[in-house]
Amino acid sequence: MTRRVSIFGATGSIGQNTIDLIARDPDAYDVVALTGASNIDQLASDAMRLRADIAVTADETQLDDLRTALEGSGIEAAAGQAALTEVGCRPADWVMSAIVGAAGLAPGICALEQGATLALANKESLVCAGQLILSTAKANDARLLPVDSEHSAVFQALVGEDMDAVERIIITASGGAFRDWPLDKLASATLAEASSHPNWDMGQRITIDSASMFNKALELIETREYFGVRPDQIEVLVHPESMIHAMVGFTDGALMAHVGPPDMRHAIGYALHWPDRRALPVDRLDLAQIGALTFRPPDEVRWPALRLAREVMERGGLSGAVFNAAKETALDGFIAGRIGFQTMAQVVEQVLNDTDPGHIDAPMTLDNVHAVDQMARQAARDVIEHKAG
Ligand code: NDP
Repeated sequence: MTRRVSIFGATGSIGQNTIDLIARDPDAYDVVALTGASNIDQLASDAMRLRADIAVTADETQLDDLRTALEGSGIEAAAGQAALTEVGCRPADWVMSAIVGAAGLAPGICALEQGATLALANKESLVCAGQLILSTAKANDARLLPVDSEHSAVFQALVGEDMDAVERIIITASGGAFRDWPLDKLASATLAEASSHPNWDMGQRITIDSASMFNKALELIETREYFGVRPDQIEVLVHPESMIHAMVGFTDGALMAHVGPPDMRHAIGYALHWPDRRALPVDRLDLAQIGALTFRPPDEVRWPALRLAREVMERGGLSGAVFNAAKETALDGFIAGRIGFQTMAQVVEQVLNDTDPGHIDAPMTLDNVHAVDQMARQAARDVIEHKAG
């Protein structure tokens, strides 16, 4: 039986790793849709290699280029947000959600509405609209599988376990590019320095978010949403080697750790083959050679994003959508050279503090999430303007 699969964000780091796994067994999959944004050559060549039904770019100005690149292949080309949402609604058995940012939310919701299994790398969706995603999955009998390495690790450690016996969840963090930098040097960190990760090969945005720990902050909220535990049951542990991805602590004192190489094809492959385990092309760890694994507590002065995430979890409602939108806009500001590395957290904190409680407490519908997202982006742009000016 072939499985119908779609990959949203196919041209990115997670998308390419997903294609690597699927292309190893082409007869097992019938590829429905691949989506991308700016990388038209990659999108078109993967669509032709995997014989997809349709390729979609988020960027409407690139539609002609995509059509030209696909000419003669019989593969449909489309562009823009409406097209992304439309392919989200095309029947598929398994969908990889790997668009970066809140833009991944609407296509993911559509995939759940048509009952697909959604492999969720796009953590921003859960941060912005966790309850909406979970209720949509439930209402449509659709399954949500985590792809973030930490959440895949927790998911695997929980197989066969009773959630009532879970005392705590520990997600690990490498500490990113500036883990060992003197604090007073952080203000002058450059884009190139922030864009280099010591262990993982990922897209630029998540790499910078790892250096600032905004990535881990999103993952704290993602953990709460996905596993339904209280914020005080979730811990972050700095683990520079990135071999243990997460641990689950049980009421009898046992800690179940998931250990594996820093290669996203493990978590993607687990979600692709779940509930089975299949052979995956990832390195096997030689722990004797590694010798030692080290751990340290997170430093909330170095990484204020962690404190902000805890405030968001306490606040609830649509504060996750505000947090994520302000974070994405602050990151744009840092990438554009308008604000410094440490100013990103200041921007997010100010937007959170200034947001009208009426926005946060609005019902969690897709329209309200979108409206709050837009409002927070504008507020963040205003703060950046003020700070940069
Ligand atoms: P990349 O930046 O490498 O790729 C992002 C993908 O989204 C690309 O296909 C890109 O297209 C597309 N894209 C960008 N902007 C838009 C938009 N506005 N609308 C639609 N599509 C868009 O990101 P990653 O693969 O690193 O990350 C993807 C998601 O997975 C993120 O949510 C990230 O947090 C999460 N994740 C990533 C991990 C990793 O190892 N990389 C680990 C765990 C989670 P194009 O390239 O053509 O412009």
